[in-house]
Amino acid sequence: MRIRGLPMMRLLICVAAFSLLAFAQPEAAYADAEPIPVSLRVAALPEGVDPAAATVTAGAWDTAFQPVKSDVLVFDKGVARWYRLQLLADWHEHSPPLLVIQNARFQPVTLFVAPEFRPMVEYHAQSGRDPRFSRRALVFELPQNLGAAQSAYLRVSASSKRMPFSAKVYPEEGYQAADIRWARLMTFFEAVQLTMILVGLTLWLALREKLYGFFVGYLTPQFFYLLVSTGDLYLLPGGRWLEPLGIRVLWFVAALSTPFALSFLIEFCDMRRIAPHFARVLSWLRAPWVVLTLTSLLPMSFHDGNSLQPDIGNMLFLICGAVAILAVVVAWRRGSVAAGIFLLAWSPQSVFTALRAAQLLLATPLPGWLEFTLPASLSLSSLVLTLGLGVSTLQIRRERDHARDEAQHDALTGLHNRRALMVRMAEALAAARQARQSLSLIFLDLDHFKVVNDHHGHLVGDACLRIVAERIQYELRPGDILARWGGEEFVVLLLHTGRQEAEAIGERIRRRVESDPFQAGGETVRLTVSLGVSGFAGAGQDSPEQLIEQADAALYRAKSDGRNCVAVYPAFGAAA
Ligand code: GH3
Ligand code: MG
Ligand code: MG
Repeated sequence: MRIRGLPMMRLLICVAAFSLLAFAQPEAAYADAEPIPVSLRVAALPEGVDPAAATVTAGAWDTAFQPVKSDVLVFDKGVARWYRLQLLADWHEHSPPLLVIQNARFQPVTLFVAPEFRPMVEYHAQSGRDPRFSRRALVFELPQNLGAAQSAYLRVSASSKRMPFSAKVYPEEGYQAADIRWARLMTFFEAVQLTMILVGLTLWLALREKLYGFFVGYLTPQFFYLLVSTGDLYLLPGGRWLEPLGIRVLWFVAALSTPFALSFLIEFCDMRRIAPHFARVLSWLRAPWVVLTLTSLLPMSFHDGNSLQPDIGNMLFLICGAVAILAVVVAWRRGSVAAGIFLLAWSPQSVFTALRAAQLLLATPLPGWLEFTLPASLSLSSLVLTLGLGVSTLQIRRERDHARDEAQHDALTGLHNRRALMVRMAEALAAARQARQSLSLIFLDLDHFKVVNDHHGHLVGDACLRIVAERIQYELRPGDILARWGGEEFVVLLLHTGRQEAEAIGERIRRRVESDPFQAGGETVRLTVSLGVSGFAGAGQDSPEQLIEQADAALYRAKSDGRNCVAVYPAFGAAA
């Protein structure tokens, strides 16, 4: 679909309104609300050392723990890892300390705290988690009287990839306030995303345009990606059934979204017309995603220690992203405004996804702003695309109106064509009959027009037809209807007009055509016209076709009377 005349102003207003709503909130949430973590002493057992928990909590391995920097801890590829956490000072705050594990995603972690060292397991998808906290992080409540001398041991499970995470201790009060703000913000982004999906779905059901279907198919899995990331999905009815699937749910929705995104891109930017080679490549790129979607839920895929499938998936993401960006830029450079909108919608999302990938790859801590900019850019992108859909709907409407206009008008003179005339006539006749008003019809035919063509050529003939049309129109009133019947024949429909008035108008037209020679295509041409008048007064029962026939019969008489004159159908006015 090609979009011309992008309403840039409207686009900017939408983006500005969204930004105001979205970015004002985290600004408030992050500027002064993020609680300050309490300092910790962290130590780790060497990589690959995974003794029995009882021996660790008994202190048998304490000498083997090596100090590590506390802000970036890691899940190791293929092996579990032990960490020991200690407060620098005894806990004296009036709310209990919380151990907050951020960025653990689907990795289960187990905590053992003094005095009982009872194992407490937490992971993202777990059902029955502490309802006081969102699933932004894994949260363990530590004993209120935790002392600096006491150790907490953390065992983190093996991962398919080396992944950073952080373990921080906060007073419960401060953490919970920030957590509520975060949850509110995520709910906002989810709501925006859901609203856009509903808009797309409504448009799809109403208009049956596959573009909207692709839009819904692309955004819905992305919405679920958001729900999985925030953990809200597991709180929905039936959400707990997804728990055993772990990270595979994330891969499923990501893989499902991509072929729809590619189809949407091809359709939205009119790729097949603007960049057909890219359209073909993008179509092919959908195939591996269908396979990945189907295999992502299989038990052996994406499990801990299996990095093949995530690697294939990530590589495909990169390839698709690169090809798609290139295709959109090319389409945009070739003048597709839709591609420009897509680029605008997509860039923030791509930038933040790339930053997130880089952060994971480099195992650096997750900055607070990156935590919310990705969901924000997802909702912003769907908002801009929805606007793009609106613009393309407008374009479809314009094209349809244009086609309808063309179907009703004559290309040479711009007058109504025969089909449009018959429709207008049927309406006018019914109205005139109901109001018992008179109505007239004039049939015009140029005299010896064949000679004009033969002497001056068709182009001059065409120019003459246009000038004739103008001259006839000049003699008509605003409500009168002039149509080109075909060839060098025209029809005039005169509303509320009786026989005498119609005859006078016919005579005026005849004189105007005759009056001056035509200056057409550099040549001087003299032309005359013959006219036949018919119509009815008040109670006429004639059909449009009959009226035309009668006017044509009158025209025939005008021709046989020597041309360049007006003849009236004898029965016209007889009933008046
Ligand atoms: P008369 O009506 O006076 O009997 O003579 P005529 O020569 O006008 O009649 P005829 O119907 O035989 O010829 C009509 C001519 O109009 C034939 C064709 O060359 C010309 N004509 C019809 N449509 C067009 C058109 O779209 N462009 C041009 N240039 N000529 C046209
Ligand atoms: Mg003719
Ligand atoms: Mg003629």
